[in-house]
Amino acid sequence: MAWTRPAFGGNLMATIQCPDARPQIGTIRPGVFKCCEPDDSRTAPIVKEDIKVGDGTVRTRLIERISEIAGGLTVDLENAEIIVSGGRGLGKAENFYLIRDLAEALGGSVGASRAAVDAGWIPHAYQVGQTGKTVSPQIYIACGISGAIQHRAGMSGSKKIVAINKDAGAPIFSVADFGIVGNLFEILPVLTREARKIKTNA
Ligand SMILES: Cc1cc2nc3c(=O)[nH]c(=O)nc-3n(C[C@H](O)[C@H](O)[C@H](O)COP(=O)(O)OP(=O)(O)OC[C@H]3O[C@@H](n4cnc5c(N)ncnc54)[C@H](O)[C@@H]3O)c2cc1C
Repeated sequence: MAWTRPAFGGNLMATIQCPDARPQIGTIRPGVFKCCEPDDSRTAPIVKEDIKVGDGTVRTRLIERISEIAGGLTVDLENAEIIVSGGRGLGKAENFYLIRDLAEALGGSVGASRAAVDAGWIPHAYQVGQTGKTVSPQIYIACGISGAIQHRAGMSGSKKIVAINKDAGAPIFSVADFGIVGNLFEILPVLTREARKIKTNA
């Protein structure tokens, strides 16, 4: 059995083989695979096993479930249908309001690049990418994000990608379905205003 995983900071994909050890267990991140359409014609046998586990056998126990919370908001990027993400192009933490406003107008969630997280502009729970969340929303809007391979690793499975960047040569445009070359400080308020108008008239 061969396993593929990113190595050297995501710059290459390594194929790992463990010929001897069995059983082998692989883990994948949420959002990596797209859900199939329900197919009622398919059936599978349900086998009910009567398993008795003695009290002393399992050494771990579930005490409580805690949702990831950042800045008072629950972060559920993996299940978001629309994500508006901000990167270093925002310039400073205060400018994240542009991302929040558009996300709110579209009924979506906020995401971020690692550069924005490392700068302390937004908590790590919002980070998309190799060392953040893997997401596959219907629409991913990348604003002021260059599209480094480590960022793309977490969002290239999105159904439609919109990129807003002032540099026409930014790698994000290579995965984008729609691209706007320009200044996000001019573009985002217009998009937010139009999204709000549509919402109000709907
Ligand atoms: C091991 C490892 C793991 C990593 N994991 C992740 C990860 O999980 N997620 C992640 O995102 N990164 C990750 N990185 C970092 C990654 O390599 C990049 O450094 C990072 O994604 C860059 O973030 P950015 O695109 O916001 O910043 P930059 O690369 O600096 O890009 C900023 C962009 O903003 C644009 N811009 C600037 N001003 C404006 C404006 N006014 N209007 C429009 N556009 C503007 C610029 O043209 C530029 O393209 C990882 C790196 C390593 C080595």
